[in-house]
Amino acid sequence: MNHSLSNAAINDILKDIGSNLTIYKLKKKVQNIVQIEPILYDTCKNSCVAFTQQYETLLQCPLCNENRYNMQNNPVNSTFFFSLKSRLKIQYANKEKAEEFQYRSTYFTQSEKLDIYGDIFDGKYVKNFYSFVIILYYIIY
Ligand SMILES: [Zn+2]
Repeated sequence: MNHSLSNAAINDILKDIGSNLTIYKLKKKVQNIVQIEPILYDTCKNSCVAFTQQYETLLQCPLCNENRYNMQNNPVNSTFFFSLKSRLKIQYANKEKAEEFQYRSTYFTQSEKLDIYGDIFDGKYVKNFYSFVIILYYIIY
């Protein structure tokens, strides 16, 4: 199932639901609320890959061999992406969300002192993983 919609299709949906917005006005309205700029990338029509980085110059999908471009040399499929950095900045701008994101580090500190199993972070594998990450950090830096 393909969920990609053209601008015209979105305008039709907005009209059908009785909105006086167009996609242009809707984008402007959202941009005023959320300071995040979507990036449009060509993607495989079967959603296998986005044609970025190592796939940037490919003309066919490396997984299913579907063409990237149609006969008019337009991308067969495109998808908007939002940068992870921008999304995290928005999340951290909210005080409650920022505190939620601190949960693991706060919990880890407490569980080290009490030596109890109250969360997944008390598990052997998670603790071993974090020990490994700390060792790796000291080796690299
Ligand atoms: Zn594909």
